[in-house]
Amino acid sequence: MNSFSRRSLIKLGAGAIGTGVLASQLGSKLTFPEPAVAQKTDLTPDESLQMLMEGNQRFVNKKRTSPHQDFERLAEVAKGQKPFASILGCADSRFPSEIIFDQGLGDLFVCRVAGNVATPEEIGSLEFGSLVLGTRVIVVVGHKRCGAVEATIKGAQVPGQISSLLDAIKPAVEKTEGQAGDRLENASKANVMLQAERLKSSPVLSQLIQENKLKIVGAYYDLDTGIVTMVS
Ligand SMILES: [Zn+2]
Repeated sequence: MNSFSRRSLIKLGAGAIGTGVLASQLGSKLTFPEPAVAQKTDLTPDESLQMLMEGNQRFVNKKRTSPHQDFERLAEVAKGQKPFASILGCADSRFPSEIIFDQGLGDLFVCRVAGNVATPEEIGSLEFGSLVLGTRVIVVVGHKRCGAVEATIKGAQVPGQISSLLDAIKPAVEKTEGQAGDRLENASKANVMLQAERLKSSPVLSQLIQENKLKIVGAYYDLDTGIVTMVS
């Protein structure tokens, strides 16, 4: 990252977080505001992912604890946030991250867009989530019966800006053409990995990965069972 974009990021961080304390992170040249109250999570990437998956287990087993959803937590995170995980998920109404992973206010940094595509805006948001807010894992989550992937497979003629989503998914559909098994599931899982690769191509995120401060993984959500499984 050049010095100009670093300065821009600092400004962005200041605007988004408010009166944070300036702290030096990720090398002596880069400074950005910390959340005012809380320290960043001290979890490792693997521990963050484990915490997330344990939340999904509670959800699936009907043992949700619905943590961090009271007004005490509201007041706590109003002063500063330290989410431990980022999610790039589909905008589909059946994929509410905080419910599926049994989390609450200030726990997850969530980007949702139809087809869970890593557009420049999504990548920028997730760079901010990990670099500035300190999330240790980014999980790209596709799901069963995704309408955006299905429309891409069908080569649907779509109005407005919808085609931009399908264009972003298309390489995953082409890659899985002719594969044995369920066409839609294959393409959806390939799309997860495609979008994860796009995230990994971000110099900001790859630097964090190199420093063992971040992990980017793919996952697939089963609408029928509520189970999230890892995709590789
Ligand atoms: Zn979807």
